[in-house]
Amino acid sequence: MTLIAGDGIGPEVTHAATEVVAAAGIDISWDAQIAGAAAVQAGLDPIPQELIRSIRANRVALKGPLATRVGKVGFRSVNVALRKTFDLYANLRPIRNLRGIKSAFKGVDLIVVRENTEDVYAGIEHQVAPGVVETVKVITARASHRIAEFAFQYAQQHGRRTVTAIHKANIMKLSDGLFLTCAQRVARRHPRVQYREMIVDNACMQLVLQPGQFDVLLLENLYGDIVSDLCAGLVGGLGVVPGANLGRRYAIFEAVHGTAPDIAGKDIANPIAVILSAALMLRHLGEAAAAARIESAVEGVVAAGRHRTPDLGGRSSTSAVTEAIVRRL
Ligand code: ATP
Repeated sequence: MTLIAGDGIGPEVTHAATEVVAAAGIDISWDAQIAGAAAVQAGLDPIPQELIRSIRANRVALKGPLATRVGKVGFRSVNVALRKTFDLYANLRPIRNLRGIKSAFKGVDLIVVRENTEDVYAGIEHQVAPGVVETVKVITARASHRIAEFAFQYAQQHGRRTVTAIHKANIMKLSDGLFLTCAQRVARRHPRVQYREMIVDNACMQLVLQPGQFDVLLLENLYGDIVSDLCAGLVGGLGVVPGANLGRRYAIFEAVHGTAPDIAGKDIANPIAVILSAALMLRHLGEAAAAARIESAVEGVVAAGRHRTPDLGGRSSTSAVTEAIVRRL
């Protein structure tokens, strides 16, 4: 499998994930590749050819977060570029409580399905006149259909009852309107799954009032980004939420969180989000038993309460939490 350690806290947490996978008894030969800031520092492209070759050959990668410079025009997000290169159109983020983690709600069990290839992430921005800029939001029927199809198929295969499409079609009548029309068309093909629609601002309020009313959330790229972090907050924060970027041929597994430069290099980042992303990867590879062992070891360590990183109110280091999970495995 390809392994991208990533920037910021990436190397610390991806290292933790590889140790945990090994302790689960899965012998993976990792093909370590650099990208993002690390690649630029080594005089390479942010997405080096070698990395592209590696993912093409392996088809599956585990990835740490990659840094994107805020506000620098012309510097496209490396994360976005990777998703485009491999047409990883679906971003899947399971959000659920881990036993023992303090959070406002119990029993949260949501699946965020985020469209991954277009919307304002197309990066089309220009200045019309000094002091006037435009950012173009791109929504296509093709991408909207296939992400809706992904959400409904996921719901059907995993015994989920409802898909809620989240939108702002009252304001963006054309773009979000098209997204909804496509979702409605796909919903008609899946009569066993209930279909609902909700305006994004109301959805945010409903999520923090009563998350239990939601099941699978279907979102465009930007709403998906924002609502994912909101949902992470419902279950204890970014340190515990895994993710998968999935396409027809390729899959890249990564946590929802970014590079967290404020805590990088201090051995205090929570490795659980990337460890659970590695468990999602093992499921994808058909190693469901090992994935379940990892999930249960993580839950066991969290519930025991002795080894927790500071984001979960503890004082343990990344390596101590990792060791505890490895011991349990
Ligand atoms: P990016 O732009 O790279 O997505 P971001 O601005 O969304 O990054 P993050 O890097 O995800 O931000 O970090 C947001 C906050 O959450 C920071 O305070 C960070 O320290 C914290 N955080 C993120 N990931 C973790 C983690 N694994 N463990 C502990 N804290 C984390």
